[in-house]
Amino acid sequence: MSQQTIVTLDLEGVLVPEIWIAFAEKTGIPELRRTTRDEPDYDVLMKGRLKILDEHGLKLPDIQDVIATLSPMEGAKAFLDELRSLTQVIILSDTFEEFAQPLMRQLGWPTIFCHKLDVDSTGRIVNYTLRQSNQKQHAVNAFRGLNYKVIAAGDSYNDTHMLIAANKGFFFHAPESIKSEFPQFTGFDQYADLLAAVKTELI
Ligand SMILES: [Mg+2]
Repeated sequence: MSQQTIVTLDLEGVLVPEIWIAFAEKTGIPELRRTTRDEPDYDVLMKGRLKILDEHGLKLPDIQDVIATLSPMEGAKAFLDELRSLTQVIILSDTFEEFAQPLMRQLGWPTIFCHKLDVDSTGRIVNYTLRQSNQKQHAVNAFRGLNYKVIAAGDSYNDTHMLIAANKGFFFHAPESIKSEFPQFTGFDQYADLLAAVKTELI
């Protein structure tokens, strides 16, 4: 009998645009375009982002209103719907529940494991909480411990531990530089191609 499967997917860059970059464009606040490529210390980056939000008087409901105007990538919902009809799918993301929510609504509320913001009674974001560092890798190891075969797909460096921990890993929308560093993972840019590759692992 074949092993039961779980597919773990990254969110930003795979199913939806990079939330901070899209948010920066929508609000016209260019300082929010900074990513871990510009500031490798994640804590410094996040504290800086929260300070900028404060300076602009942006509270969580304002931010969620902007995020709600973002859309999943073309074809993402159909891809996810078909995949979820074939096997279990869990989104593993380093974003925050509150930011993901408006996009999860558009994707039909798939299961997501991510982090959480600390928000006060006025809606101001005071801090953030990482539930666990390297949570994508820990989740994949836990699913394997439950006797699932795990197939993972992601687009960036923060996905590589997840891909390595999985039974099978794929890149999706990954830059050439990352793909060439991890040549053991096949890369795709079209949902149909990723779906076909995942299907071969489900048998
Ligand atoms: Mg990503």
